[in-house]
Amino acid sequence: MASLYDLHAHSTASDGTLTPTAVVERAHAQGVTVFGLTDHDVTHGLTEASVRAGQLGLGFIPGIEVSVTWSHQTIHVVGLGIQADDAVLLAGLEKLHDFRQWRAEEIGRRLQKAGIEGAFEAARARAKGKIISRTHFAHFLVEAGHAKDMKQVFRRYLVRGKPGYVPGEWANLEQAVGWIRGAGGHPVIAHPARYPLSATRLRQLISEFKDLGGEAIEVVSGSHSRDDNQRIGVLTQQMGLYASCGSDFHGPENPYFDLGRIPALPEGCRPIWEAEHWRGAR
Ligand code: AMP
Ligand code: MN
Ligand code: MN
Ligand code: MN
Repeated sequence: MASLYDLHAHSTASDGTLTPTAVVERAHAQGVTVFGLTDHDVTHGLTEASVRAGQLGLGFIPGIEVSVTWSHQTIHVVGLGIQADDAVLLAGLEKLHDFRQWRAEEIGRRLQKAGIEGAFEAARARAKGKIISRTHFAHFLVEAGHAKDMKQVFRRYLVRGKPGYVPGEWANLEQAVGWIRGAGGHPVIAHPARYPLSATRLRQLISEFKDLGGEAIEVVSGSHSRDDNQRIGVLTQQMGLYASCGSDFHGPENPYFDLGRIPALPEGCRPIWEAEHWRGAR
């Protein structure tokens, strides 16, 4: 049987809508053979997911998606094959949780000033794990009729310059790469085509990432267009990095691709899982 890799997905441990068990079951049902769970800034879903994957005979890659501030932009660094109990990683994530908690309260206060009551409590009630995400606010705002869908709600309320946006500092790039490597994982730049960076700045980001010990770029993402996949594939080869792929699945209602339904890596890319030092399932 041919392998099918999906190395980026979310569960209720962060801002997904399926439990770790249910995400693993869906990945298996969709024909994925090696699955990576990469919740935002938390490792809490990994044990549950790993147990269910073991029962189903599904290859499992314990992962994370770390929130990073680079050059005043939020970017995401995925770690694949991490040891989830690494003390330095967990201590770093703890600081991100503190910022998230304060930010969620502040989003609530700002939305209240904009005339929207009870947003913090509603987002907190929707968060089933340790962290509150803008996604939880978005679900509340859509249900309360403040926007028609997720795209519109982010544009109106939750991005820079809008009432529910709160600036702040996540981890820096060096910390994120260091924590992931220290925990035995492979650092990957997530969905690079999504960042509002010029071609020059994106190269600069990738080059810094590589110098710090970064290994791969998410060439194929559920949140990329086919053109993005091709363009990022070329860039990844030029920069001499490995390629990864993932749906960035958040739930069955998600606007992106379903688990295991992303296109193959473009010709010429070197998959991270074919690296000799790959520490995960194949
Ligand atoms: P946070 O890490 O709390 O700032 O939330 C970021 C999350 O919001 C991302 O991981 C996405 O899941 C979600 N998100 C960001 N922008 C959009 C958008 N335009 N439409 C839907 N979801 C989005
Ligand atoms: Mn998300
Ligand atoms: Mn992301
Ligand atoms: Mn993601």
